[in-house]
Amino acid sequence: MVLRPLSLACLAFLALSACAPAGQRPASTMAAPVEQRQPVTILLSIDGFRPDYLKRGVSPNLNGLAAGGVEASMRASFPTKTFPNHWAIVTGDRPDRSGIVANNMEDSSRPGEKFTMATDDPYWWNEAEPIWVTAEKTGVRAATLFWPGSNVAWGGTKTADWPHRITGGTRPSDWAQFNEAISGEQRVNGVLDLLRRPTNIRPRFLTLYFDAVDTAGHENGPDSSEATQAVAEVDGQIGRLMAGLKELDQPANLVIVSDHGMAQKSSERVVAMDRVANPADYRIVESGPYASLAAQPGRETALEARLLKPQPHMQCWRKGEMPNRFHYGTHRRIPPYFCLAQTGWIIQPTAPAKPFAGGDHGWDDRAPEMQALFIAYGPAFDTRFRAPADFTNVDVYPLLARLLGIAAVASDGDAAVLAGLIKN
Ligand code: AMP
Ligand code: ZN
Ligand code: ZN
Repeated sequence: MVLRPLSLACLAFLALSACAPAGQRPASTMAAPVEQRQPVTILLSIDGFRPDYLKRGVSPNLNGLAAGGVEASMRASFPTKTFPNHWAIVTGDRPDRSGIVANNMEDSSRPGEKFTMATDDPYWWNEAEPIWVTAEKTGVRAATLFWPGSNVAWGGTKTADWPHRITGGTRPSDWAQFNEAISGEQRVNGVLDLLRRPTNIRPRFLTLYFDAVDTAGHENGPDSSEATQAVAEVDGQIGRLMAGLKELDQPANLVIVSDHGMAQKSSERVVAMDRVANPADYRIVESGPYASLAAQPGRETALEARLLKPQPHMQCWRKGEMPNRFHYGTHRRIPPYFCLAQTGWIIQPTAPAKPFAGGDHGWDDRAPEMQALFIAYGPAFDTRFRAPADFTNVDVYPLLARLLGIAAVASDGDAAVLAGLIKN
């Protein structure tokens, strides 16, 4: 905290004697010393926000930040799902290394257990250290409202005995359990309230998360008026955030990202797995834009004969033989077989019983529809910077570490990619 007896703001108002030294005016008119606030770092995610949504004419606040800062199309990590990508952004590790390889997982070291988006057992998260843990260790106070994994006592252990307890581990100093029912307005209010605190308990690193654009994209498709309406709503909340920061005189370096894009899906574009292979030969772990499978015991050869040959609208691999560009296929949590559908196509266990439409993601990270949003805005950024065309979300982590003045832990992120974004 920097407290100056006579700040610039006071000097501007000296004529009105608002900042005159104590004793020279009645106590009732004495103003508290004006604090010169240091910039905070705010990492803001708009789930499922495709960069081209900025062209819909409904996001004046985001467009203003893009125009006054640096905007780029960012490549997500594969698979283009929510949890693997949020974790990639805050750890700098691609899913294959971070261990958050999917939204739903199994683990050969924990037979019978399943990871879902509600799992807070640190075991599943402990393979990559999130930036708020590194920050807290270094004395940089962090607050999350919300972020996947930020409710986890990172580094801790869940006891085997019933009732389970979590021992040890680190959470952000301020965090909240994710709940979709907490409105965007309440989330922004929460962040602003944290910044109203006295400096000793005020966060210097904050995350904020909006799910409305992803939800509308899933339910109605990316081209729907509902998706556009959700963009407008979230943009309005970002406008409230900026106004609140201004009112507090709180400078902020904002890094605004999305985790992936969104593409239209249709019951007209379904690959039914039971028509590709014999259901007696496999077990599906996840299905949708991709499917991950395990062979039934002893059925590997029969399954491979059907699965690994060329298929219309999808391609399947043994996990270890996926093309290198996916950086995916070594982690024990990835099932033995992986099938990726052509963008816009869906893999399902069986043919759909009734028509469906809407949006989804999880496809090839190079598909134009899967690209993610990146905007950097604030006093730290050199607005002349142009990001390389194919920069990936793991490169955001070293940028965040630099903004916070903390040492990044080793990761898949390349500090050089966004190095020129920060002013010298
Ligand atoms: P996806 O299924 O990949 O589209 O994931 C998006 C959904 O993830 C959102 O609609 C939220 O319901 C859920 N989600 C986002 N953040 C969290 C969190 N921190 N904890 C649990 N669920 C979350
Ligand atoms: Zn998402
Ligand atoms: Zn989604």
